[in-house]
Amino acid sequence: MIWNPEMETMPRRELHALQLRRLQQTVRRVYDHVSFMRGRLDETGVRPDRVKTLDDLRRLPFTRKSDFRDTYPFGLLAVPVSQLVRIHASSGTTGKPTVVGYTSSDLRVWAEVCARCLASSGAQPGDVFQNAYGYGLFTGGLGMHYGAELMGLVVVPVSGGNTERQILLLQDFGAKIIACTPSYALTLAEALEARDIHPGSLPLRYGVLGAEPWTEAMRDEIERRLGITAVNIYGLSEVIGPGVSNECIEEQNGAHIFEDHFLPEVINPQTEEPVPFGEIGELVFTTLTKEALPVIRYRTGDLASLDPAPCRCGRTFVRMSRIMGRTDDMLIIRGVNVYPTQVEAALLRVAELSPHYQLVVTRPRTLDELDVSIEVNDSFAKALGGSFTGEEEAVQELTIRCQQKLLGVLGITARVILVPPGKLPRSEGGKLRRVVDQRKL
Ligand code: ADP
Ligand code: ZN
Repeated sequence: MIWNPEMETMPRRELHALQLRRLQQTVRRVYDHVSFMRGRLDETGVRPDRVKTLDDLRRLPFTRKSDFRDTYPFGLLAVPVSQLVRIHASSGTTGKPTVVGYTSSDLRVWAEVCARCLASSGAQPGDVFQNAYGYGLFTGGLGMHYGAELMGLVVVPVSGGNTERQILLLQDFGAKIIACTPSYALTLAEALEARDIHPGSLPLRYGVLGAEPWTEAMRDEIERRLGITAVNIYGLSEVIGPGVSNECIEEQNGAHIFEDHFLPEVINPQTEEPVPFGEIGELVFTTLTKEALPVIRYRTGDLASLDPAPCRCGRTFVRMSRIMGRTDDMLIIRGVNVYPTQVEAALLRVAELSPHYQLVVTRPRTLDELDVSIEVNDSFAKALGGSFTGEEEAVQELTIRCQQKLLGVLGITARVILVPPGKLPRSEGGKLRRVVDQRKL
């Protein structure tokens, strides 16, 4: 279902008029209330009254993660701290946490967009919703929580982790929809299998998965093993949290960006010029309705493309592709750019492998080396007859095959290390770190 048909199916021309009005208000708000940004706007010579068309967006300065750090903790707020009703902080996956604040109006907007996400993921009012995103400073848990309440779901606020209890609740409370990271969805699938619980015996039908990069191959794996339809949800603390965009179950092909609240751009990260639809670049967002923390042209570091094609679901909002990777996650191995998702896409379709992998980068002398550890699946391990030394002929043969596959996809030689099932780290509830960079240690 569409939670807010009036907005989500608005004709593009009307949408653009609304966006322009809101953009003007946002720039005005930032100029008047965020001294750090006023300085920046003055430097570029773009006063708020110079924003006359949506194209004028391009003349505005960018905001970067470093601006959050430089003004830590509250320097980018457009309201006094006393007017906030909530503070969150990003999970700090890539460094010091960034602090974000919300007024009560911001919380209403946030709940609205999260309600849209859940509806677009298959939820109907009255459905039981297991919210397995972490509650706390991380935006995932509480963000989805209020969206779910707004749309009339029955929320089970279990938070991330504690897999034993998750399974008990899935069985006893009968959630039809679950939200968690894709890596944690796999942990749950494994745990069900280990307990011989067939997913078909559970009412669970839909998964709203996000907060970390994943691939189509991973979606297939999760859908098959959990017996659900899984869609991608995207968001980031600096913009609002979860709820910036969400795929629809009708097409499962790109996440509709809630463009009445967030104005997207995709730029070439080097030249900072816009890239055409369909081409991958860095996502940039300008918030259109936020009070406490309006951001102008925030550079997410996330790489994706935009697709303006009409969608079967009826939403008129543009769709964004999956995130190829974050610019911070990009590894440069002997001069070649490598993203963990490329490895995932290449190896997950190999029949003998499991979806559990890890990348380790080292620099033994002067050149970087990439090791890719990946678990073989149970049936392959069983066929080896219980032992796994790595010397087995079948293991050697599979290793070579994987290395060739990676060479084809990445253009560099990576060392593939096959390991028996259960050897690599699992998500314990939140985002899974797939890259170990030993060059910095
Ligand atoms: P942190 O930067 O500490 O991880 P957040 O918790 O705000 O902070 O996470 C936001 C980031 O998570 C995004 O910028 C993006 O890199 C990643 N992310 C969120 N949703 C997705 C998704 N569906 N696919 C890929 N990456 C995602
Ligand atoms: Zn759609």
